[in-house]
Amino acid sequence: MLENLEIAQNPTLKVPTAEKYYYIETYGCQMNVYDSELIGSLLNKCGYHPTDDIKSADAIFLNTCAIREKAEETVHNKLDNLQSLKNIKPGLLLGVVGCMAQNLKDDLLESKPYIDVILGPDSYRKIPEIINNRNSMEHYVDTKLSKFEVYDDMFPSRREGINAWVSIMRGCDKFCTFCIVPFTRGRERSRSIDSIKGEVIKAVEQGFVEITLLGQNVNSYRTSGGNFSDLLEQVAQIKGIKRIRYTSPHPQDIDERLIRVMNKYPNICNHIHLPLQSGSDRILNRMNRTYTKKKFLDLVHMIRDIIPDCVLSTDIIVGFPGESDSEFNETLEVFKKVSFNFAFMFKYSSRPGTKASEYSDHISEGVKQKRLETLIKLQRDITLLENQKKYRKNCRCIG
Ligand code: SF4
Repeated sequence: MLENLEIAQNPTLKVPTAEKYYYIETYGCQMNVYDSELIGSLLNKCGYHPTDDIKSADAIFLNTCAIREKAEETVHNKLDNLQSLKNIKPGLLLGVVGCMAQNLKDDLLESKPYIDVILGPDSYRKIPEIINNRNSMEHYVDTKLSKFEVYDDMFPSRREGINAWVSIMRGCDKFCTFCIVPFTRGRERSRSIDSIKGEVIKAVEQGFVEITLLGQNVNSYRTSGGNFSDLLEQVAQIKGIKRIRYTSPHPQDIDERLIRVMNKYPNICNHIHLPLQSGSDRILNRMNRTYTKKKFLDLVHMIRDIIPDCVLSTDIIVGFPGESDSEFNETLEVFKKVSFNFAFMFKYSSRPGTKASEYSDHISEGVKQKRLETLIKLQRDITLLENQKKYRKNCRCIG
C-alpha cells in the first residue's frame, strides 16, 4: 500500500513487479558448481530469487559439461523436455552456459532455437545486461574466451552447508590429448592470494567450516604473490577453518614442499586426488600426461614417506585409443602397487576437437566395457582392504 502511494506521488518510481525466480541445474565438475554460485549471485543482484521448482522459474540456466559424450546427451534430453515449458511460458528465459555452450553453440542454436542465451565460462558477467535489456525475440550468444577473467571481484551465492568451494584458478595449459577443457575454458590464469583469502574469510564468517580450493589444475596455481603451496599455507592459517581440501591437482605439479605444508597444518585433510589416467608409459605419452609410471610411483612413495596415512584417490581412462591388453594390465599392476583408497574409472569417450579423437586405432565398446569391469572389480577389493585396515587401526585407537 505504502509503495503504491509513493508511486502515485512520484511517477519516476518503477511499478513493483511480481517476484522473479531462477533455477540453475549444474552438470559436471565442482568448477561448474562454483560457477553456478557466481551466476546465482549475479541473478540475485538483478532481483531474482532462487527456486528448486523448475516450473515456477522465470529464468532457467543449465550449466553444462563437455567432458564426456554422456554428459552432453543428458543436457540435450533436458533441453528437449524444456521446450514444452517454454511453449507454455514464452517469457521464460532459457540459458545454456558452461563448457557445452562454449563448445557446441552453433549446434545448439540450430537444433534448439528456443534457447535464449548461450554463454561460455568466461562470459557470465554479461548476465545482468542480458536480463535488464532482454528482448524475448533475440538470442544472446557470447563464448569469447578471456586471458584474464577470474571473477576476482565477485562473491558466490552459496546455499547453506559445511563446505564452500573456492575457485583459485581457471583454464588449463596441459592439453591432454583426450580432454576438451583447454578448448572450452581457455588458458590458465590465477586469482590473487589476497582476493582468495578475502573470499575464504567471508565464507568462514558465514558459517562454512570446510574450504575446498578448486582449479582445473589446482596446483598449477601461480601468481607474483606465490605458488599453490604458499597459498595453501596462508589459507590454513585463517582462523575458523576446520578442514581444507583441494582438487584436482596434476601429478606433474606436486612437489615435496606441498606435501610438507599439508603435513604441517592439521586442518589440511590428508587426501590427495592424484589422477593417474593410465599405468602404461606409451599410453601416458599418447595422452600427453607429461609423467611416466616410475615418476608417478616415486611421487606416491614421497607422499607416503611424509604423510603415511594419506588417502589417495585417482582417475583412470580405460580403452584409450591403441591401448593393448598388456598396456591395460600395466594399469592393473599400478593399482595393485599403489592401493588407491578409491578411484573414478571411465571408458574412454571420444571428444570431437581433441587430438585423441583423430587417432585411428580406437578400441571397441565391448573391449572397453570388459576392461572397465575388470578394473572396477579390482578397485572394489582394494577399497575393501584399505577400509578394513583403517577400521582395525581405529579400533585399536579406541582401545
Ligand atoms: S590437465 Fe589434462 S585432463 Fe586436466 S583439465 Fe587439463 S587437459 Fe583436461
